[in-house]
Amino acid sequence: MVLDTVAEVALKLAELIGRATRPFYSLEFFPPKDSAQIPGFLETAARLKKINPLFASVTYGAGGGSQDNTLGITRQLSEECSYLVMPHLTCVGASRERISAYLAQLRNIGIDNILALRGDPPQTAASGAIPFSWSSGEFQHASELVEYVSAGFPDFGIAVAGYPAPHPESPSIEQDRVHTGRKLMAGADMLITQMFFDVREYVDLVSRLRSMGMDKPVIPGVMPIRSFESLRHVLGLCGANIPARLYIALEEADRKGGEEAVREAGLIFAADQIRRLLAAGAPGIHLYTLNKAETCLRLVEAVGGI
Ligand SMILES: Cc1cc2nc3c(=O)[nH]c(=O)nc-3n(C[C@H](O)[C@H](O)[C@H](O)COP(=O)(O)OP(=O)(O)OC[C@H]3O[C@@H](n4cnc5c(N)ncnc54)[C@H](O)[C@@H]3O)c2cc1C
Repeated sequence: MVLDTVAEVALKLAELIGRATRPFYSLEFFPPKDSAQIPGFLETAARLKKINPLFASVTYGAGGGSQDNTLGITRQLSEECSYLVMPHLTCVGASRERISAYLAQLRNIGIDNILALRGDPPQTAASGAIPFSWSSGEFQHASELVEYVSAGFPDFGIAVAGYPAPHPESPSIEQDRVHTGRKLMAGADMLITQMFFDVREYVDLVSRLRSMGMDKPVIPGVMPIRSFESLRHVLGLCGANIPARLYIALEEADRKGGEEAVREAGLIFAADQIRRLLAAGAPGIHLYTLNKAETCLRLVEAVGGI
């Protein structure tokens, strides 16, 4: 019997969040590609326990990583660092059979929560898109993965992705919010957002979901800008909008103090963004760690939260 080692009662994150008496931090990690980097990675993860995160999420296939990497790092974060771990799972190009087998493996190592995603079509190393037809796969949208998981694996807690600055493929903000709401209606019980910089976009997302009758937790994702290069990368990756206030602060910092000053300005902006998100009612903050401890520790300290 494969489920022998699994705890009897699943620990669903949305229920934990519902019971939380104060805002929390959670962390996103990506699995190191090279096994030689794993000890350093685990050291970083252990250092970040200092901020008492409610859970850690682990990306899946993003940036060329594999599903095995995600499984291995999920297990190590859970067993060696005592994190409550929520691995990501994408369904682009996947069969129902493969998804079921993967979920069974997760249950087998005691994982109760996943972040259910569609994912993006495959890209070549030179970042050109490979010809790809959505209709060839068994899943076309994350909502279908949510339906599949909640029907077949009802004891899993399911989070989905939301986009304060609408998803780049969404034809309008309205359509974006409707499709996001559909994932929650399909059985997801919480939402984690893409990184963004304008708090008003988060407020808009939450209020539109509330007006559709959905009151599930919406956890904003925050990433401090570390350099102009990282800013360009983020903007290209997820279509986030950059407020003029942030851009001017980064430019001024660059002129006066170069790279280090830019990093400092990014941190000050992110700390202010977190304070404003919590004041707007966010239940907690999901930090995009980029597997780096120092920036996150300094950020949380700047907010006054360690
Ligand atoms: C918090 C977070 C974590 C992430 N982690 C990873 C990761 O680990 N690995 C990875 O590869 N990627 C990851 N991504 C990126 C994500 O896979 C991409 O943004 C992807 O393009 C969309 O995934 P989704 O789950 O939001 O898709 P969907 O919810 O399916 O939405 C994709 C697009 O389709 C539209 N849409 C949805 N349903 C319908 C419908 N029924 N009819 C018409 N249009 C529809 C939506 O409006 C949207 O524009 C992450 C994103 C976030 C926000």
